[in-house]
Amino acid sequence: MDPVASPPPIPHSRPTLGPEDQEAVAAVLTSGHIAEGEQVAFFEEEIAKSVGAAGGVATSSGTAALHLALRALNVGEGDEVILPSYVCAAVLHAVHYVGATPRLADCDPRTFNLDPNAARRVAGRRTKAIIVPHLFGLPADLDALIPLGIPLIEDCAQTVGATLQGKPVGSIGEVTVFSFYATKVLTTGEGGMLTSPSASFVARARDLREYDEKKDYQVRYNYKMTDLQAALGRSQLKRLPQFLAARRALALSYTRAFADLPLLCPGDSPGRPHTFYRYVVRAAQEMVPRLLDLTSRGVTCRRPVFWPLHRALGLTGFAGTEEAWETAVSLPLYPSLGADQERVIQAVRNLYGEG
Ligand SMILES: *Cc1c(COP(=O)(O)O)cnc(C)c1O
Repeated sequence: MDPVASPPPIPHSRPTLGPEDQEAVAAVLTSGHIAEGEQVAFFEEEIAKSVGAAGGVATSSGTAALHLALRALNVGEGDEVILPSYVCAAVLHAVHYVGATPRLADCDPRTFNLDPNAARRVAGRRTKAIIVPHLFGLPADLDALIPLGIPLIEDCAQTVGATLQGKPVGSIGEVTVFSFYATKVLTTGEGGMLTSPSASFVARARDLREYDEKKDYQVRYNYKMTDLQAALGRSQLKRLPQFLAARRALALSYTRAFADLPLLCPGDSPGRPHTFYRYVVRAAQEMVPRLLDLTSRGVTCRRPVFWPLHRALGLTGFAGTEEAWETAVSLPLYPSLGADQERVIQAVRNLYGEG
């Protein structure tokens, strides 16, 4: 026995899975109907209802939902799509899947969200859509983007359950996408969803999702979700209010514990309460490697965006994104963090000599 064995590392994210999730999935297994079926239909209705949409189209991933959204908007070669540089590569991939040209726009490093002025500067005659992720749980400034008159694809992969001026995020754009990947607020393991206020748009996306029993031939996909996944998603969705309350309580504890440190902590924007998918602090640039290195001491910290898209594409500029990338560190935050939060707080405070 090692008398000074260290406690197990604290992961950066962890799904919140309980006995009710196990029962929901087991019931589908017992039923024998494991592919797309009634559980998927119910899950689609429930998510669509939560954002006041005409319907939902469950998919195998958030990336697939983005691809269907662009296809159903008839975005293709010769068209341009605006997206932020400060977001994961999935968003850029979807633009390339349809052969469109990505136009990256800078983010506002104070909110990490797409800067509407930067979006306006790259908008033009060929712009067919703007993909707006609500990043880390904070709703983006849609009010400033709507006047551009370009269809908005709300990316709620990180922000399910959030509101904007009292309206649910995902209820404002022409089309909305969700991801239910293992680390997201709600999970189905892998999975996604597309919703829209337009019933005909939903029907078009649904037609593209699956290839079977069609008499006409056009390129279609197999992006279906299984009933095993949908049952898990429904069971998770029932606990969304609890998940969000737990996240907010943990986030406020961090903010209180770091009040005297030279860190910028995340919080609400006016009319846009944060739902804390991530707790992303901004630190002096020289402190960032040290915060990331807490991982080697059992407190897993991450850059919340692995690599800015403009750098991946060899572009320069994007001062806001550069600033965000150079200063942002994401700390562990999820409902099951519990008492481990104290270890994270102590590790961060020790780093600043405030043990
Ligand atoms: C996770 C995520 C995606 C991609 O979803 P997948 O289910 O992993 O394909 C897209 N956009 C954002 C903002 C995400 O966080």
